[in-house]
Amino acid sequence: MATNVAQFLCLTDNYGVLLHDSASGATASIDAPEAEPILAAARHHGWRLTDVLLTHHHADHIQGVPRLKESFPELRVCGPAKEASRIPFLDVLVGEGDFASVGSLRAKVIETPGHTLGHVAYHFEEDEIAFCGDTIFSLGCGRAFEAPYEVLWSSLMKLARLPRETQLYCGHEYTEANGRFALTIEPHNPALKGRIEEVAKLRAEGRPTLPTTVAAELAANPFLRAEEPTIQAAVGMPGADPAAVFAEIRSRKDRF
Ligand code: ZN
Ligand code: FE
Repeated sequence: MATNVAQFLCLTDNYGVLLHDSASGATASIDAPEAEPILAAARHHGWRLTDVLLTHHHADHIQGVPRLKESFPELRVCGPAKEASRIPFLDVLVGEGDFASVGSLRAKVIETPGHTLGHVAYHFEEDEIAFCGDTIFSLGCGRAFEAPYEVLWSSLMKLARLPRETQLYCGHEYTEANGRFALTIEPHNPALKGRIEEVAKLRAEGRPTLPTTVAAELAANPFLRAEEPTIQAAVGMPGADPAAVFAEIRSRKDRF
């Protein structure tokens, strides 16, 4: 019995991901940015799509669904109950603490509002994998489009409390640009500098910088490190509430 994950580029910088359960033969697409590459990846691996797990309502995460349903009419589409009014084709509505299944695999649903109000992440605890959509990126985080910065901060802290070895799959390949901003906040963080070197090498070879891990992000991602004295000093907010420090860093990134 094995869990297989295939990650591939969609559109310009979105990631498509297929999660395959060899025990049952079930295969889920995590989000659906673009149908063609998803169908091609499924064909390539000889997997039949059975499920879609959606993280949030943005077009670059859901627009492939209708075309996938044409190819697989039995496809079961799961997504955040709180965004049901904005995602017309949901079959299964989930929220905090629910479980989403893909064959014999089970994911705990974690509500991670901020980027959008109903955003969810899917944590496959046994396999130590989490699909985070646009909540966290490597060395960065999503924009707080639909909620105050503090709401996104709480969501990031939920992901930061997952086991350290958890592999985080993110919605976009933004790592290189995120690294440039992160350096403005923590220019002397050795973990950050090491990650940036690693990322430059991966990108030069045309390889993805994801998945990342909770441990790697805790060490290098300034958005998870708002409690660090060095970061608080860097933004001129020593001793401040970490949520406020996070808000300052996020608003600087918005203008970067
Ligand atoms: Zn988004
Ligand atoms: Fe996105």
